[in-house]
Amino acid sequence: MNILTVFKKMAKKLIVYMLKIILKCRRIVDKIQDVILGGAAYNHILKILENRPLDINLEVTNSCPQKCCFCCNKKIKRKGEIMKMDLFRKICDDYYMMGGGGLALSSMQSDMFTDPYLIERLEYLKLKKDKFFLYTTNPMIGINKYDDEKLKLILETFNYISVSVLGLNKQDFLDMSGIDGFNLFYDNMIRIKNMINEHNIKIKIALNFRTYDKNQLVNDKIYKELLEYFNLEGIFDSYFSWTGTINQKDLPTGAKLITKNNLNETENCAASMSTLSITPAGKVIGCGCIDWNNRHIVGDLNNNTICEIWNSDNYKRFRNSFIQKNIPHICKECALYANIKNAYSRKALVNYKVTDGIYWTIG
Ligand code: SF4
Ligand code: SF4
Repeated sequence: MNILTVFKKMAKKLIVYMLKIILKCRRIVDKIQDVILGGAAYNHILKILENRPLDINLEVTNSCPQKCCFCCNKKIKRKGEIMKMDLFRKICDDYYMMGGGGLALSSMQSDMFTDPYLIERLEYLKLKKDKFFLYTTNPMIGINKYDDEKLKLILETFNYISVSVLGLNKQDFLDMSGIDGFNLFYDNMIRIKNMINEHNIKIKIALNFRTYDKNQLVNDKIYKELLEYFNLEGIFDSYFSWTGTINQKDLPTGAKLITKNNLNETENCAASMSTLSITPAGKVIGCGCIDWNNRHIVGDLNNNTICEIWNSDNYKRFRNSFIQKNIPHICKECALYANIKNAYSRKALVNYKVTDGIYWTIG
């Protein structure tokens, strides 16, 4: 081997070595940046929360035609309620005046397509789109009752729809949702895709798959087809008990029941800290995720403004229940508990404005 070849080999090794060091330094710098910006984002979000929620959820109806095996709707009968239009306008006007932000329609425990005033509500919300980011979760079974013009209005008014996908064939759909709705769901999704493409509609549709077998799901040709048209938000094969309401025997074989113990958590939960949840009757509940039977009412929007209720002692007590070590029964085993430090300490939130969208969809 002549000296030139030896030199070339050494130079090559040195370059590779230097590149590795640069890469390592880069990763360390990124990590430091994440910690610094994450801390700044956390403080920034807490500052916003001193005066207002990050977003609101309006349950404009409390009914849902499905009976998902993992959902309280299957077991608990609630008296049907629809939010009156006057109250809806009052809340929307109030929210708009305080700066707007994320506004979800029936994103928790109901299906907005059962709301007889949905189109009227969307026409009203469309006028306020400059300050509202509209969001919902929905199984997309109910859209076939709307003609193309109305479906276009729905898709143009919402910024983000998270679609619960309850099965990719007739039997799985029936097992998960309790209804024989797969063909309807599939046709609806293709119709939505075609409408978005035809009119170049700027909406984000993300799919949340609920299954008992993740492996079977990701190899399904319809799974792959749907992801050509829409975004993936998540795949779930574990479900929680809704404080003991759902049991393992309610779930199909393969699906898991999550049990959790939050009694040692010392940070508040991001769900109640971020979102002000409103029932169809205008009551504000401490947590819209889980409080199915409205046990923790902290205010009434028929009588007060959003800001008044947000800053009331009653509501503050609920939001701070973890740090005050007075954890409500519904929170003790709740699998939706999200530590605010983890939820808010993300660098993507460092310049977050409430009108940017629902905070967890950012970044
Ligand atoms: S679609 Fe949603 S609200 Fe309706 S039963 Fe299923 S999980 Fe419950
Ligand atoms: S722990 Fe569960 S019930 Fe309690 S605030 Fe969080 S999400 Fe709601």
